[in-house]
Amino acid sequence: MGKIISICNQKGGVGKTTTCVNLSAALGVLEKKVLVIDTDPQANASVSFGFGADQLNNPALEYMDFTSVIKNNIIKTNAPNVCLFPFFEDLNFFEKSSVVSKFQKALQKIKHSYDYILIDCVPFFKAKNLEILATSDAVLIPVQCDYYALEGLHKFLKTVRFVQKKMNEKLHIEGFLLTMYDKRLNLSNKVVDYVRSYFKDLVFNTLIERNSKITQAPSFGQSVIEFDATCVGAQCYLQLASEILVRNKDVKEVMLNNEVETTFNSRTFSSVSSEETKSDVLYGKILDSFKNSSEHQSFSFLNNFDELLSLKKKTVEKIMGSCYKNHFGNTWVYKINSSNLFKKKYLHIHFDNGTVSHYTTKWFSR
Ligand code: ADP
Ligand code: MG
Repeated sequence: MGKIISICNQKGGVGKTTTCVNLSAALGVLEKKVLVIDTDPQANASVSFGFGADQLNNPALEYMDFTSVIKNNIIKTNAPNVCLFPFFEDLNFFEKSSVVSKFQKALQKIKHSYDYILIDCVPFFKAKNLEILATSDAVLIPVQCDYYALEGLHKFLKTVRFVQKKMNEKLHIEGFLLTMYDKRLNLSNKVVDYVRSYFKDLVFNTLIERNSKITQAPSFGQSVIEFDATCVGAQCYLQLASEILVRNKDVKEVMLNNEVETTFNSRTFSSVSSEETKSDVLYGKILDSFKNSSEHQSFSFLNNFDELLSLKKKTVEKIMGSCYKNHFGNTWVYKINSSNLFKKKYLHIHFDNGTVSHYTTKWFSR
């Protein structure tokens, strides 16, 4: 049964949308099925996934069966395992109370199809957010590491308590997430200390650092993980996803506590670390193993990876290096670094019934 987490704070510009998009992508890479619901008329989350308002159709939801409308309008994004219910320009389903309950009921119906449903909320505190909180299992509160970090937070928490009391007693705080942290700044560190001393265990251990790649990624219609999985911003969101899985005891047998990160790193960043030299070794290894097998004499990975198609997981692991501590996952991601000749940066290998069904590559050059 999926967990509905709304990403909410009464303030704008604190990293709600950024967190929604990148956390969903990170959870997706960790093999969780995620649905993102964009409730902001600015449609920033939809745009961050590469969908413009002009690409979205706008059904008159008010008169329709809400569940089927939601189901029919969910879009698959480029991020593995992440779907999006985009904001629809001409509908304001939250502001019509008759439709609100339909929304809640519909979400309950589709909940079982996902592991996590993340809702990107509007900044200012509106009735819409109340309804979203009433529908959610948890609320994740991004707090920007700046001077005004806690401004208005008190009022917001009062509202959360109101919702817990009157509308939705199962609502809990998933955590406070410190965003745009800059370790060089005294102020940033002070805010971290203060928020931690005040909210204690409710604050995520993960700090989201300020990182320019996070700002650039949306203009390419990508999450920061697709944009550059090695950058600090991507690492922060991957770490946050791991922390959420651990907090929710939602990790597979072998992926417990500290191992979550290790397991993740070893599969995403292939069998080696992200260091340039080691990645070169992997690159060499891939080519060598294919060169050694006679039927692939002339094969070059520089252009395509078709030779991987139909191979079994074990064979792929042999060629590409160890990727998983278990073999459950059906999307394996390898990072392939350096060398000007080698332009591809990420290789996503998709399995169906234990064999490679297709693969996708993310290009190095931008
Ligand atoms: P909100 O949804 O709360 O209004 P956004 O997620 O849109 O906030 O973030 C506001 C601005 O801050 C955006 O321009 C975004 O790119 C930028 N931003 C958010 N998080 C980071 C970060 N960790 N590093 C750098 N820029 C960030
Ligand atoms: Mg936003």
